Amino acid sequence: MLHSILDTLELPVERRHFLFRSTQTLLSAALLASMASYETNASELLAPQNTSAPDPVGKVSLPPLEAQTEQKKGPLPNPEPMEKRIGYAIVGLGHLALEEVLPAFGACEKSKVTALVSGDRTKALTVAKQYGVPEKSIYDYQNFDSIKNNPDVDVVYIILPNSMHAEFTIRSAKAGKHVLCEKPMANSVAECEQMIKACEDAKRKLMIAYRIQYEPNNTEIKKMIREEKYGKVKNIVAVNGQNIGDPSQWRLNKQLAGGGSLPDVGIYCLNTVRFLIGEEPVEVYAQISTDTNDPRFKEVEDVVDFQLTFPSGLRAMCGTSYSHHQSRNYRVYAERAFFGMDPAFAYGGLQMYRSFAQDELEIYETPKRTPKNQFALEMDHMSDCVRSDKKPFTPGEEGLQDMKIIEALYLSARENRPVQLKKHEGKDLFRGTEPKK
Ligand code: NDP
Repeated sequence: MLHSILDTLELPVERRHFLFRSTQTLLSAALLASMASYETNASELLAPQNTSAPDPVGKVSLPPLEAQTEQKKGPLPNPEPMEKRIGYAIVGLGHLALEEVLPAFGACEKSKVTALVSGDRTKALTVAKQYGVPEKSIYDYQNFDSIKNNPDVDVVYIILPNSMHAEFTIRSAKAGKHVLCEKPMANSVAECEQMIKACEDAKRKLMIAYRIQYEPNNTEIKKMIREEKYGKVKNIVAVNGQNIGDPSQWRLNKQLAGGGSLPDVGIYCLNTVRFLIGEEPVEVYAQISTDTNDPRFKEVEDVVDFQLTFPSGLRAMCGTSYSHHQSRNYRVYAERAFFGMDPAFAYGGLQMYRSFAQDELEIYETPKRTPKNQFALEMDHMSDCVRSDKKPFTPGEEGLQDMKIIEALYLSARENRPVQLKKHEGKDLFRGTEPKK
């Protein structure tokens, strides 16, 4: 074989002999080496095994790839082993659960999905297979209370139409489970108060899923405002609206939704402004415009423009709608700059911006940060609070405060007058433990 290969080469005979001999030598060496290595492997196999496996619980690290001058990416994800994580039951397998929350478990470090609750058994069986949830941990709305016997469930995450939040929070607390509940917390102040009491009585945590308060860009803007990086803030303008479709969906049904654009998407403007400045409004004023000939708006409102006045004198102008192209942003006007986020409230692609003067230039910047999954951040914060027995950063009281303001906004619009609210001294009065960095 080797001869025939060498014959194809146009070389003098003595040169071919040299090549033949040296190739033979090389092949023999390789053969001996592989035999030696086989012997080593064989002797290793025969020798008694070292049974002390490396400790699997520890942080993984990799050497840095890029120069020190490049954008910092932060540490590697170091998720906890599955058996250590806090277990979640997801209640309601709709758009938010299937499109955002369940996939977000893949980015969680401390949380895992362990149960599903749905009115649609076939869908639940499919989703259970997709996420490795055992069939015995699928519940419906009737047998839900037996979840108390499931030790794999620590937290119930309620992702149902708004009118069902109170009932399922109370049932979860009675079943001995902690609760993470979607916004808006409920449809009335009275319901919010019942939810807080039920969780207090059962000594369980209650957190409202205000994901923006766990998102790093929005947190950075909060810091800029609180530290007066560009001087005092004079005004904030915030808009969160979208063009809603199918008139038969629950969001347009007053009994199920509690209201229209205001509690669904306008709440982002309200909650985020409160989060950014830490103060509570002392006066609110709202105007509502709804075309009742539009089949979508037979029961709930469309456009809401509202103003919040804070004790420091700062005003926020907010707008929400169910009939304009999606627009989710805010702008903060400070003494030496304007800055904000656009988009501010979307699930991804959030973008910070700022504009300030420098010598002869007006600098307009759009700083970019490595994105983080907001749902994973919020669930891992809840898991931290459950584990260390701390009050969540956005507890039931935070949701209740929004609901008090929303009720005042509806009153203002109905009576076409500013409505005064109880004055609260201090900052961040309704928030709990700061999330870990
Ligand atoms: P969907 O309509 O997509 O899903 C709601 C699910 O609730 C349904 O799929 C159904 O699940 C269950 N359900 C039980 N009873 C009813 C009923 N009578 N009518 C309709 N659905 C029912 O809503 P979303 O997922 O968009 O919203 C759910 C909650 O999450 C709301 O409170 C909303 O405000 C909040 N949300 C929060 C967001 C955020 O960014 N934090 C974004 C979007 C929504 P099943 O078939 O499994 O029983």
